[in-house]
Amino acid sequence: MPNYCVNKVAQSNGDHEVHDTTAAKWCLPNPANRQDLGLHAGCVSAVQSAKNYYSQVNGCRWCAPNCHTG
Ligand SMILES: [Zn+2]
Repeated sequence: MPNYCVNKVAQSNGDHEVHDTTAAKWCLPNPANRQDLGLHAGCVSAVQSAKNYYSQVNGCRWCAPNCHTG
């Protein structure tokens, strides 16, 4: 089951992006800016979990494309 994190730093549009840490793609935020979300079966529940921290959340277009909107 992949591990997810949310970027503590918002994008210019205010979104806090959720990333699949396990995928270890280049899009991952700096380790200091990752809020760990733990293990999730998929990005949907990871995004829900991220909403405990931030009200404006979006999936990363690169490593969580199924949850990316806009
Ligand atoms: Zn990503």
